[in-house]
Amino acid sequence: MQLDLLIDLHIGGYRQGPGGDDVTRRAIGLSGLKEKQGLHIADIGCGTGASTLVLAQELDAHIEAVDFLPPFLEKLEAEAQKQDLSERITTHAISMDALPFADTSLDAIWSEGAIYNIGFENGVRAWRQYLKPGGILAVSELTWLTDERPAELDQHWAEEYPEVATASAKMAILEANGYTPIGYFPLPPHCWLDNYYRPMQARFADFLARHDQSDAAQSIVAAEEKEIALYERFASYVSYGFYVAAKL
Ligand code: SAM
Repeated sequence: MQLDLLIDLHIGGYRQGPGGDDVTRRAIGLSGLKEKQGLHIADIGCGTGASTLVLAQELDAHIEAVDFLPPFLEKLEAEAQKQDLSERITTHAISMDALPFADTSLDAIWSEGAIYNIGFENGVRAWRQYLKPGGILAVSELTWLTDERPAELDQHWAEEYPEVATASAKMAILEANGYTPIGYFPLPPHCWLDNYYRPMQARFADFLARHDQSDAAQSIVAAEEKEIALYERFASYVSYGFYVAAKL
């Protein structure tokens, strides 16, 4: 039931996490993929596919769009059809820890705001086998922007996502697991506020009404509001970092 509520809250959003088409394009620029043809790419934890659609628009590629929630993939399929991109996108309703791809078959693995579901280190290790040598890993991941933070912020994210770390620590993990980092940038605040939090807040009233103000729906909204208030106070200390790396 909780999952149904989360789907209902998030399916109306263009993105299901902080991000932006401009940022996806910036990471594509860092990746060097634009200069290549006939690419085979997986977009893992794609949600309703905002990044999948940008990849399909920008690159000469076939995109394997992976998410374990079929309603999100149905929305992506409808939008791909509208944009005449269906032939370049295949959806897979599967878990990101059991991918069906052959070893060394992918030119790139893309994943925006989703690798945390299996943990950054576990994910970069597990997914490496699917990449061709020199293949690109492009992931966004919760990142500390400073070496020290207010205790309240530290404590919140230590409970919610203990793997949160600085960019240098994330890059060390990439290096220790057979990748060389080729680019990094932190997501700017508009990716959180304009593209994710504000549109979600605008959906809260209808969401609560659809669920008769149930305790479960109210507790989801309260948790989101808490996270939003924390982000608003501490945006200079935390963001998503976009990491682009090549498999060695
Ligand atoms: N990449 C999208 C975006 O940036 O808008 C979605 C990000 S959302 C924060 C995380 C996504 O990961 C959700 O769509 C969720 O359904 C998916 N997800 C969570 N756990 C998963 C798993 N084990 N396997 C596949 N997808 C998963």
